[in-house]
Parts: sequence; structure tokens; C-alpha cells
Amino acid sequence: MKICDTVEEVRSQVKQWKKEGFSVGFVPTMGYLHEGHKSLMEKARQTCDKVVVSIFVNPMQFGPTEDLESYPRDLEKDAKLCETVPVDLIFHPQPEEMYKDGFCSYVDMNGLTTELCGKTRPTHFRGVQTVVLKLFHIVQPDYAFFGQKDAQQLAVIKRMVTDLNVDVKIVGCPIIREEDGLAKSSRNTYLNKEERQAALILSKSLAEGKKLIDAGEKQSAVIKKAIANVIETEPLARIDYVDVVDFDTITPVETLNGSTLVAIAVYIGKTRLIDNIIV
Ligand code: AMP
Repeated sequence: MKICDTVEEVRSQVKQWKKEGFSVGFVPTMGYLHEGHKSLMEKARQTCDKVVVSIFVNPMQFGPTEDLESYPRDLEKDAKLCETVPVDLIFHPQPEEMYKDGFCSYVDMNGLTTELCGKTRPTHFRGVQTVVLKLFHIVQPDYAFFGQKDAQQLAVIKRMVTDLNVDVKIVGCPIIREEDGLAKSSRNTYLNKEERQAALILSKSLAEGKKLIDAGEKQSAVIKKAIANVIETEPLARIDYVDVVDFDTITPVETLNGSTLVAIAVYIGKTRLIDNIIV
């Protein structure tokens, strides 16, 4: 497994692979890898001849008061996990390699990014889109793998690829959870013991919503209220949003029909966690 920190090294390796007729699968990440990331890599391994993983804590997608500095990092441990898949190449650039002096070009979107996480993180998706398109240009993958854990991100990337004719197939992968239901996340490391227990309220509340939907409930307002009621039973939890939107367009729906995303963001203490179900 190669670990590259320059664009040039990645480009020349991928060029060589393409010359030999290999397909390339790509998993973009911010590192501090866990089983959720690993499931994407394994899917890439099954789908493609070569697997590239990027590990880059992208400053552009963090707001000024967010956790860029404290975001957990451990390249050595990440590399070990990648070896087990196995991954062929890790791209681990420094911010200076990705954003040269004078950088001023961005990818942005008029829809999809105003709801859900876009409300409290107004510049987040611009940063995500910009870095993902740059990574696509660098890695030139045939397939790229994204988790449904970040469902709005997945929808945004699919839309961007369609709108800008990017020649990459986007594969969405299911949410991997801890045994007790908490969606795996690098940010779970911020939680102390009490908060870790309290964080179970996210998956519990969604399970309550799912129960209602399975019983035939179609009114978003009723589903949202039921989910919020469960979250509010947890003293350490503070709701950022509970929303029901169309999964393709990320616009609110009043009545469930087609592919609908039920998404929540909840602060547990100072840590903001997200979770969702697609129904
Ligand atoms: P991150 O490192 O948090 O930026 O995530 C990198 C990729 O891994 C994204 O496509 C995420 O949606 C995906 N991912 C993160 N956590 C999980 C999880 N628990 N299950 C599935 N995919 C995940």
C-alpha cells in the first residue's frame, strides 16, 4: 500500500493503472477511520481493481466556530485499517497541497444545500463540493463511495456529478452502527461516558419514527413531532433539526411519498451528531 502526499504522485500512479486497464474505486474521508469507512472501502474493493482512499481534514468545509483544530487525526492507525481491506493507495495531502496560494475557485449549488445541515452550516457544502470535485480530478476514479450516514452530502454529490457531467459513478452505502444503535462517527470520540449513553437517543428516536411510518403514518408533521418528543426526554440532548425531505432534492415534504429522508441533528453536550433513515 502506497501513502502519497502530493497530487503528482497520485496522478502518476493512477495513470499507470489506467494504462494497464485497471478500474479505480475511490473513498474520500477525513480519517480517524472506523468500520463505517471500512464498509465503503470493502465495497470499493469488491467493485474495482484498485482502491484509493483519501484522508484529508478539509479546512474549507468547517465553519469558523467548528472543530477543525480538534478534529481527531491518527494516520498510523488509519493506515493499519486500510491495510486490512486492503487499500492500494492512501492520498494524505496537507492543506497547502490542496489549496495553493491565491486559491479562489469554488463549486456551489443553488438547491439541496439550504435545508438540514445547510441551515446551521451555511458554507459547509461549498467546501465539500469543492474538495470532492478536486479529489475526483486528482484520482480520476471510475466509482466513488459515500455513506448514507451523511445523506445530504450523498444527495449533493450525486447532483453535482449529474449537473457538471463528472464521469464518476456514485455509490451510496448503508449506515454502519455500534451494537447499541449509535451510528459510527469519528466525532463519537468527543463524547464522555455519560454523553455516549445519551447519544443513543438519536437512533432510538428514529426507530420511533420508523415504527409510526411502518404502521402507515404519512404526515411529516406527525412523524417529526414523535421523533422530537423522544429526543426531548434526554436532558443532555438539544435538537438542531428534525426534518423530513425528499432524498433527491432535499426539499421538505408534507406527506411521505417516494424516497424520503428522515434526518436529525442533535447536540449531545457540545458534540453535534447526525443520523437518518431513508423510507
Ligand atoms: P468522514 O470521514 O466523516 O468525512 O466520512 C467519510 C465517508 O464515510 C463519508 O462518505 C461518510 O458518509 C462515510 N461514513 C462515515 N460514517 C459512516 C457510517 N457510520 N456508516 C457508513 N458510512 C459512513
